[in-house]
Amino acid sequence: MTIAVYPGSFDPVTNGHMDIVMRASSIFEKLIVGVYAIPAKNLLFNTEERVGLFKQAVKGLRNVEVRPYTGLTVDLARECNAQVLLRGLRSGSDFDNEFEMVLMNQKLAPDVDSVFMISMLEHQFLSSSLLKEVAQLGGNIEEMVPKHVATALREKFGIGHTGHSP
Ligand code: ADP
Repeated sequence: MTIAVYPGSFDPVTNGHMDIVMRASSIFEKLIVGVYAIPAKNLLFNTEERVGLFKQAVKGLRNVEVRPYTGLTVDLARECNAQVLLRGLRSGSDFDNEFEMVLMNQKLAPDVDSVFMISMLEHQFLSSSLLKEVAQLGGNIEEMVPKHVATALREKFGIGHTGHSP
């Protein structure tokens, strides 16, 4: 059984993340989404909220599990008996960071392989950080995140309506 771990901070989960999860869930027998439990100071949503939002987004996917983790991602992979660390790649800048990370993870855990899925064209320019900025300014983010995430973002920013069209 091939188990993959998909790690990230997911602050919050976007349609770009969901695209990777949905494609991966039909390739791997089991997919574990690891939500990195970093101190909330630079994040909009705390760990419990980020896990909750992701859990709700994958409710229909039976072989996907969402859990928080601390420490090294390779340790999470080992704990879950995962052979694969899955990451999504957008064009350009993701590659350099990921390349460095893969080499380090290979050194730390040669038994865990990193696998990359290229983001679909419509999600190439979607990032959680830009999304939060747009949401805070009242922009329309409905097509970029699952419905309940859009609601959670509006609540966080105290915006009571659906936002302005771009
Ligand atoms: P980080 O791991 O830096 O905290 P994120 O939580 O935003 O980053 O993302 C987790 C994973 O999802 C990473 O592999 C990232 O490259 C990928 N990802 C982020 N946004 C998208 C997107 N729009 N399409 C596909 N993959 C994405």
